[in-house]
Amino acid sequence: MKITVDQRLCDAHAMCVALVPSVFGLRADGNAEVLVDDVPSELVDEVYLAIDSCPLRAILIAD
Ligand code: SF4
Repeated sequence: MKITVDQRLCDAHAMCVALVPSVFGLRADGNAEVLVDDVPSELVDEVYLAIDSCPLRAILIAD
C-alpha cells in the first residue's frame, strides 16, 4: 500500500502524525509527509484510520 499527502490540501493538523508516527512525519513547514515507501502490513488499519481522520482528506492512496 502506497500513500501520499496532497500538499495543496494538508493544513498541518498533524492528526496523522499523532495516530501513526512511524508512517507520517512533519515537514519544516508543518505539513505532513509520508516516511515510508510502502505501508507495512501491520500498520494498514492504523493508516486507514488516519485517512478517515484527516479533516482535509489530504491523505491519498496511491497504490
Ligand atoms: S491529518 Fe491531514 S491535514 Fe493534518 S497533517 Fe495529516 S495529512 Fe495534513
